[in-house]
Amino acid sequence: MIKDIINKLNRELPATVKLVAVSKFHPFESIEEAYQAGQRAFGESRPQELMAKVKRLEEIRAERGEPDYMSDIEWHFIGHLQTNKLKMVLPYVSLVQSVDSVRLLEAVDRWGAANGKIINVLLECHVAAEESKQGFSEQELIELLSSEVHYANVRICGIMGMATFTDDESVVRADFQRLLDRQKTLCEWMGKSPNVASGCDELSMGMSDDYPIAAAMGSTIVRIGSMIFGERTY
Ligand SMILES: *Cc1c(COP(=O)(O)O)cnc(C)c1O
Repeated sequence: MIKDIINKLNRELPATVKLVAVSKFHPFESIEEAYQAGQRAFGESRPQELMAKVKRLEEIRAERGEPDYMSDIEWHFIGHLQTNKLKMVLPYVSLVQSVDSVRLLEAVDRWGAANGKIINVLLECHVAAEESKQGFSEQELIELLSSEVHYANVRICGIMGMATFTDDESVVRADFQRLLDRQKTLCEWMGKSPNVASGCDELSMGMSDDYPIAAAMGSTIVRIGSMIFGERTY
């Protein structure tokens, strides 16, 4: 049961770690079930699917005549975001965890300026062995931080990343350590980079298979999908 797993995770996770339930590829009914168990933050990775769920919630509110139904739900975007899809995502999310390039950061900033909003983001960093993964390398992160360009309509709140997909715990630990180091680097630029004001201390790492390691190593956000909602059928 979704409820039992949410309860178990809440007992297990340190109070300093926020649980984001990754609901991608799962129906809105599963989100409602998790919500009823007290879960508030949900992660989605595809703009179309996020929009469909936001719309579904609006429909349910209208049907029930309860405009405030699930009004404290919090959407996190965790997937690759194309610059032509920003308007499908940015109006609805409280955090974009997956800003994986300067180009995307610029586009989000422009959207924020045009819409009078400041968008909370995490910088997705690449540390895993897999070649295909998106994200900032160490060098790209330093370049961004040492740049004088001020992205006034984004708030960089921290770092997000994924460990290598492997059963070898030492590899996972080494990847998480690199993410910790990137987060430390980010915070060291506080006050020196125009883009690191304060509150740069979020570190989103840990998924169904590796969250206990991530939580023990100091992550502040875990993103857990299949453990809560079951296997995804793509
Ligand atoms: C799908 C996804 C998750 C959740 O993965 P599980 O293994 O199902 O817990 C976490 N983070 C990101 C970025 C994802 O795309």
